[in-house]
Amino acid sequence: MTEKRKSIKWKLFFIILLPTALLGVAIFIFGAYLIYELASNHIHDELETTTHVLKSCFDLTVQGDYSYDGKVIKKGNVNISDPSMLYDIKENSGIDTTIFWQDVRISTTVEDEHGVSAAGTKAEKVVSDAVLKKGENYYSVDVMVNGSRYIGYYTPLRNEDQTVVGMVFAGKPINIVYRSVGEIVLWFLLFTMLAVLLALVICRKFTEGLISDINRIKHFLHTISDGNFTVSIDDEITKRKDEIGEIGVYADKMRHDLKALVELDALTSLYNRRSCNNRLKNLQEEKSRFTIVMCDIDWFKSINDQYGHDCGDYILTDISSRIRKSVEGCGFASRWGGEEFLLIYETAYEQVKEKVEALAEQIRDNEFAYDGKKFHVTMTFGVKEAKPGVNYEKTIKAADDNLYTGKRNGRNQIVY
Ligand code: GH3
Ligand code: MG
Ligand code: MG
Repeated sequence: MTEKRKSIKWKLFFIILLPTALLGVAIFIFGAYLIYELASNHIHDELETTTHVLKSCFDLTVQGDYSYDGKVIKKGNVNISDPSMLYDIKENSGIDTTIFWQDVRISTTVEDEHGVSAAGTKAEKVVSDAVLKKGENYYSVDVMVNGSRYIGYYTPLRNEDQTVVGMVFAGKPINIVYRSVGEIVLWFLLFTMLAVLLALVICRKFTEGLISDINRIKHFLHTISDGNFTVSIDDEITKRKDEIGEIGVYADKMRHDLKALVELDALTSLYNRRSCNNRLKNLQEEKSRFTIVMCDIDWFKSINDQYGHDCGDYILTDISSRIRKSVEGCGFASRWGGEEFLLIYETAYEQVKEKVEALAEQIRDNEFAYDGKKFHVTMTFGVKEAKPGVNYEKTIKAADDNLYTGKRNGRNQIVY
């Protein structure tokens, strides 16, 4: 497999990255829009309130009409164009205010960049058209005031007969407003980016855990595909309650079934000849002491002929389970071929003799019953203890020779 494969890790990461980033952008745009809307509503209300409060101060506290003598504006006999009150407002709220006679600034806190007061300058035509001619309030998020851009609110000053004689203005320089709104938006941007980053870190952590378990399953399957069935899958994977856990369980079951398929005989579930050979090789390498027993069912062909092949299979299965019990805990057994078995006992020779005799007797004494017919079966055994340093194949041959001696001598016996 020479083709270089791309890890699913990156695919998953991009699948998560894209919507998270898009969501982050959407949240930011919506949030910035909300902040802008809230700020403009707030500024509108703030400026509107300031102009109305200022105008109410004149209208409610001083009786009489407005007049202008070329220097000051009076209401009745009171000079209302003293700028100290306007500077107080500016100090407390940062709002510039102006009192106009017609469209001329008489008293104002607006100054140019050199600190020169805008008193004496005129309002924009669009403002005087709306406020002085039409008698309306005027609000704009971009109005020129003495050469600077302002967010401003204008309201008309009226005499008792409702004639408009001037205006009251409240406003904030646009750059100052944008700077403070910009600061809030910047903090919001930072917060959104942090949230997106956090979401990505959490997703990455999650995908890494997932990918690591997928990789462990991959290595497990790879080892099995190499023919090694001794590996075991990590408990952490099979304990998972999701699909990965299920894949792990199935992979382990597949290993177990494949192992059985490769190592065990299908009919008797004893080891097959190939895996028995492998086990014997290992035993020899470990320099363990063991005894080999070759055994064969007597006259099995005639049992098949007499009672049928299925009955033969039944006897093979029954005898196999007796053999399995005999070697349990002290060795292993295999179906060497047909009705011939090879048993390995890894226990003291005297004990082997006892076990083989017990097995032979048990089979001999058992009354087999199949399809309403009852009959007896015997087996012949050839036993040979493996000597250290002697190749196990020679020991098998010796056990086999003993078996055939038993066959020649009338069967139903054990030859040592
Ligand atoms: P001996 O006492 O000399 O061993 O005589 P035998 O009849 O047992 O030996 P033989 O080699 O003549 O016959 C073995 C028979 O075992 C022949 C074959 O059909 C049968 N056999 C081999 N494998 C199976 C199997 O899986 N199932 C069944 N039913 N029969 C099998
Ligand atoms: Mg036989
Ligand atoms: Mg045989």
